[in-house]
Amino acid sequence: MRIDISEMISTSNKSGVYEITPEKDRYVFDGSSCPVRCESPVRVIIANAGERKAQLEVCGDLSVDIPCGRCLTPVPTAFHIEALHLIDLSKEADEDGSDRSVYMPDGQTVDTEQLIYYELYTRFPMKTLCRPDCKGICPKCGKDLNEGECGCDRDVPDPRMAAIRDIFKNFKEV
Ligand SMILES: [Zn+2]
Ligand SMILES: [Zn+2]
Repeated sequence: MRIDISEMISTSNKSGVYEITPEKDRYVFDGSSCPVRCESPVRVIIANAGERKAQLEVCGDLSVDIPCGRCLTPVPTAFHIEALHLIDLSKEADEDGSDRSVYMPDGQTVDTEQLIYYELYTRFPMKTLCRPDCKGICPKCGKDLNEGECGCDRDVPDPRMAAIRDIFKNFKEV
Protein backbone atom coordinates (compact mmCIF):
# COMPACT_ATOMS: atom_id res chain seq x y z
CA MET A 1 0.00 0.00 0.00
CA ARG A 2 1.12 3.51 -0.72
CA ILE A 3 0.05 6.45 1.44
CA ASP A 4 -0.08 9.79 -0.29
CA ILE A 5 1.18 12.33 2.24
CA SER A 6 0.81 15.44 0.07
CA GLU A 7 -2.17 16.71 2.11
CA MET A 8 -0.43 16.09 5.44
CA ILE A 9 2.64 17.87 4.17
CA SER A 10 0.80 20.97 2.99
CA THR A 11 -2.07 21.39 5.50
CA SER A 12 -1.51 22.26 9.15
CA ASN A 13 -3.26 19.99 11.69
CA LYS A 14 -3.95 17.46 8.96
CA SER A 15 -3.37 13.86 9.93
CA GLY A 16 -4.25 10.38 8.85
CA VAL A 17 -4.44 7.04 10.66
CA TYR A 18 -3.85 3.81 8.76
CA GLU A 19 -3.93 0.18 9.73
CA ILE A 20 -1.62 -1.89 7.63
CA THR A 21 -0.66 -5.54 7.38
CA PRO A 22 2.23 -7.02 5.41
CA GLU A 23 1.09 -7.72 1.86
CA LYS A 24 3.62 -10.46 1.37
CA ASP A 25 3.60 -13.42 3.75
CA ARG A 26 7.39 -13.62 3.76
CA TYR A 27 10.27 -11.17 3.59
CA VAL A 28 13.88 -11.86 2.67
CA PHE A 29 16.45 -11.09 5.38
CA ASP A 30 20.14 -11.83 4.85
CA GLY A 31 19.32 -14.07 1.93
CA SER A 32 16.73 -16.24 3.69
CA SER A 33 13.03 -16.00 3.06
CA CYS A 34 11.27 -15.68 6.42
CA PRO A 35 7.51 -16.02 7.03
CA VAL A 36 6.07 -12.82 8.55
CA ARG A 37 2.84 -12.63 10.57
CA CYS A 38 1.10 -9.90 12.44
CA GLU A 39 -1.54 -10.59 15.08
CA SER A 40 -3.19 -7.20 14.72
CA PRO A 41 -2.63 -4.51 12.09
CA VAL A 42 0.33 -2.19 12.36
CA ARG A 43 -0.81 1.36 13.08
CA VAL A 44 0.62 4.23 11.09
CA ILE A 45 -0.20 7.82 12.00
CA ILE A 46 0.99 10.60 9.74
CA ALA A 47 0.48 14.17 10.90
CA ASN A 48 1.51 17.56 9.67
CA ALA A 49 4.52 18.94 11.53
CA GLY A 50 5.00 22.30 9.88
CA GLU A 51 5.92 23.67 6.49
CA ARG A 52 6.58 20.67 4.20
CA LYS A 53 7.09 18.50 7.27
CA ALA A 54 5.19 15.52 8.61
CA GLN A 55 5.61 13.19 11.50
CA LEU A 56 5.22 9.47 10.90
CA GLU A 57 4.46 7.22 13.82
CA VAL A 58 4.47 3.47 13.40
CA CYS A 59 3.48 0.97 16.06
CA GLY A 60 2.77 -2.73 15.98
CA ASP A 61 3.72 -6.27 16.83
CA LEU A 62 4.92 -8.77 14.29
CA SER A 63 6.42 -12.21 14.32
CA VAL A 64 9.10 -13.43 11.94
CA ASP A 65 10.27 -17.03 11.59
CA ILE A 66 14.05 -16.64 11.50
CA PRO A 67 16.11 -19.72 10.66
CA CYS A 68 18.40 -20.88 13.46
CA GLY A 69 21.97 -19.82 12.66
CA ARG A 70 23.23 -23.37 13.22
CA CYS A 71 20.49 -25.86 12.25
CA LEU A 72 18.12 -23.68 10.14
CA THR A 73 15.03 -24.62 12.21
CA PRO A 74 12.59 -21.66 11.98
CA VAL A 75 12.55 -19.71 15.23
CA PRO A 76 9.40 -17.58 15.73
CA THR A 77 10.74 -14.20 16.83
CA ALA A 78 8.56 -11.39 18.13
CA PHE A 79 9.19 -7.80 17.06
CA HIS A 80 7.69 -4.83 18.80
CA ILE A 81 7.81 -1.85 16.51
CA GLU A 82 7.48 1.64 17.87
CA ALA A 83 9.08 4.47 15.97
CA LEU A 84 8.69 8.11 15.16
CA HIS A 85 10.11 9.53 11.95
CA LEU A 86 10.22 13.12 10.88
CA ILE A 87 9.71 13.67 7.19
CA ASP A 88 11.10 16.97 6.02
CA LEU A 89 10.40 17.44 2.35
CA SER A 90 12.10 20.83 2.33
CA LYS A 91 15.36 18.90 2.50
CA GLU A 92 16.81 16.08 0.45
CA ALA A 93 16.26 12.62 1.92
CA ASP A 94 19.88 12.15 2.92
CA GLU A 95 20.22 15.72 4.22
CA ASP A 96 17.94 15.42 7.25
CA GLY A 97 19.70 12.34 8.54
CA SER A 98 16.65 10.13 8.12
CA ASP A 99 16.25 6.96 6.15
CA ARG A 100 13.08 8.11 4.50
CA SER A 101 14.39 7.25 1.02
CA VAL A 102 13.96 3.63 2.14
CA TYR A 103 10.23 3.79 2.85
CA MET A 104 9.52 6.70 0.51
CA PRO A 105 11.35 5.51 -2.60
CA ASP A 106 9.53 8.01 -4.84
CA GLY A 107 10.01 10.85 -2.33
CA GLN A 108 6.25 11.55 -2.20
CA THR A 109 4.33 8.54 -0.89
CA VAL A 110 4.98 6.16 1.98
CA ASP A 111 5.40 2.58 0.79
CA THR A 112 3.98 0.61 3.73
CA GLU A 113 5.66 -2.64 2.67
CA GLN A 114 9.05 -0.93 2.67
CA LEU A 115 8.19 0.74 5.98
CA ILE A 116 7.41 -2.57 7.72
CA TYR A 117 10.47 -4.18 6.18
CA TYR A 118 12.65 -1.26 7.27
CA GLU A 119 11.38 -1.40 10.86
CA LEU A 120 11.98 -5.16 11.06
CA TYR A 121 15.36 -4.92 9.38
CA THR A 122 16.67 -2.28 11.77
CA ARG A 123 15.62 -4.47 14.73
CA PHE A 124 16.85 -7.74 13.28
CA PRO A 125 18.87 -9.77 15.80
CA MET A 126 22.55 -10.37 15.03
CA LYS A 127 22.25 -14.03 15.86
CA THR A 128 19.27 -16.35 16.17
CA LEU A 129 19.52 -19.79 17.71
CA CYS A 130 16.71 -22.28 18.29
CA ARG A 131 18.28 -22.93 21.69
CA PRO A 132 21.54 -21.73 23.26
CA ASP A 133 23.20 -25.15 22.97
CA CYS A 134 22.01 -25.97 19.44
CA LYS A 135 24.43 -28.51 18.00
CA GLY A 136 23.77 -27.51 14.39
CA ILE A 137 23.83 -29.80 11.39
CA CYS A 138 26.56 -32.21 10.37
CA PRO A 139 28.67 -30.57 7.63
CA LYS A 140 29.19 -33.99 6.05
CA CYS A 141 25.75 -35.62 5.90
CA GLY A 142 23.44 -32.72 6.85
CA LYS A 143 21.79 -34.50 9.78
CA ASP A 144 20.35 -32.32 12.54
CA LEU A 145 22.73 -33.16 15.38
CA ASN A 146 20.13 -32.10 17.97
CA GLU A 147 18.28 -35.28 17.03
CA GLY A 148 21.31 -37.45 17.69
CA GLU A 149 24.74 -38.36 16.38
CA CYS A 150 25.10 -39.39 12.74
CA GLY A 151 28.38 -41.25 13.15
CA CYS A 152 30.35 -39.15 10.64
CA ASP A 153 33.99 -38.45 11.38
CA ARG A 154 33.85 -34.69 11.70
CA ASP A 155 37.27 -34.36 13.30
CA VAL A 156 38.74 -32.80 10.17
CA PRO A 157 41.79 -30.75 11.06
CA ASP A 158 41.51 -27.12 10.09
CA PRO A 159 44.07 -26.51 7.29
CA ARG A 160 45.14 -23.28 8.97
CA MET A 161 45.86 -25.15 12.19
CA ALA A 162 47.84 -27.73 10.21
CA ALA A 163 49.99 -24.94 8.77
CA ILE A 164 50.68 -23.57 12.24
CA ARG A 165 51.56 -27.06 13.48
CA ASP A 166 54.05 -27.40 10.63
CA ILE A 167 55.70 -24.14 11.60
CA PHE A 168 56.10 -25.37 15.17
CA LYS A 169 57.45 -28.70 13.95
CA ASN A 170 60.10 -26.96 11.85
CA PHE A 171 60.92 -24.68 14.75
CA LYS A 172 61.63 -27.62 17.04
CA GLU A 173 63.81 -29.34 14.45
CA VAL A 174 66.13 -26.34 14.08
ZN1 LIG B 1 19.27 -24.75 15.96
ZN1 LIG C 1 26.99 -36.71 9.57
